[in-house]
Amino acid sequence: MPLVDKTNLLNLSRAGLESFFVENGEKPFRARQLMQWVHQRGVTNFEEMTDMSRPLREFLSENTCIEFPTLIDSQQSTDGTRKWLLDIDGVENAIECVLIPEKSRTTLCVSSQVGCTLNCSFCSTAKQGFNRNLTTAEIIAQLHLVHHGLLSEGKQGVTNVVMMGMGEPLLNFDAVMAAVDMMCDDYAYALSKRRVTISTAGVVPAMNKLVNETDVSLAVSLHAPNDHLRDQLVPINQKYPIEELLKACHSYIDGYKSRKITFEYVMLKDINDSLECASQLVKLIKGIPCKLNLIPFNPYPHAIYECSDSATIDRFREYLSSRGIITVTRRARGDDIDAACGQLAGQFKDRSRRSQKYQLGLKEIGGLSHAH
Ligand code: SAH
Repeated sequence: MPLVDKTNLLNLSRAGLESFFVENGEKPFRARQLMQWVHQRGVTNFEEMTDMSRPLREFLSENTCIEFPTLIDSQQSTDGTRKWLLDIDGVENAIECVLIPEKSRTTLCVSSQVGCTLNCSFCSTAKQGFNRNLTTAEIIAQLHLVHHGLLSEGKQGVTNVVMMGMGEPLLNFDAVMAAVDMMCDDYAYALSKRRVTISTAGVVPAMNKLVNETDVSLAVSLHAPNDHLRDQLVPINQKYPIEELLKACHSYIDGYKSRKITFEYVMLKDINDSLECASQLVKLIKGIPCKLNLIPFNPYPHAIYECSDSATIDRFREYLSSRGIITVTRRARGDDIDAACGQLAGQFKDRSRRSQKYQLGLKEIGGLSHAH
């Protein structure tokens, strides 16, 4: 049977796998067994799945596959941040994911789309336009490849996932939700819901849908304290202005004691970094259980903005902190390899140079060379 007709089991979360097995005359518990092999042990060869009968293994290899995007490049920053470029449509499309190792946690920043439709004026992903949504398989594969690569290097696996790579996760709702289910599933990556964060530029209807679907952490890219400015920076604001956005934030957290929103605020020199902006911001979010992350703007070629000075960022942070808003300045990580927020472009125009680098990279990251 040609490969295209096979069901890629990486696309199925527990519920999907259970239906798949039941439809094919098997017991639902096969789903849990399969998830343990694939996601916990990193085994993708059906022959090795020894607690399944031989006929079942034969059925699986004839009718299904476990298919990953191809790893084409990897880079490591001087600060330890690592970035992987994954080829998903032959030579046309590539996506990136970024690993940020810290003492107490190892965070993977995952992409949800190739490109993005939202066109935020300070984001380099926007500049490449939108190509397509990633499938659940392509989203979970980023975690699978990196997590099992780390384990085979004898390192701590991924402990946190942030959907802050390329794309708007809430505009690829179903695929992202299935992937998030797998991230949190005890038979897969068993990440606690607090350690999985969906970041949105403010797709209000999808935020409202999220309320009943999941319990993961929610980050909201606010970036401006009034509609006039936010309309320019985050154009989806023209459709869902701040008032509606904050209502959706309330509906996500109200009635759930443990939930709070993380607001993201990119620091753009002379654009949104004045004390007047800080004062408006306090009025806007005071009273919402939240934390504010200030992200120093990460530059890229032809960017029309500059990052605020560090003294301005400090002043802005202190203004907010002293008025009761928990405010943290995010340290830029991995900007020497274009891995910082908003620098993920994912294209690979010069394939030959990339693949040369990939060959070199593979030697250094032997543990990841099992990717196929
Ligand atoms: N679409 C989602 C995820 C995108 S990226 C969202 O908008 O939340 C994650 C964060 O990086 C967002 O807050 C985004 O606005 C921010 N970002 C984008 N470009 C940036 C840049 N050049 N410098 C700093 N942060 C940037």
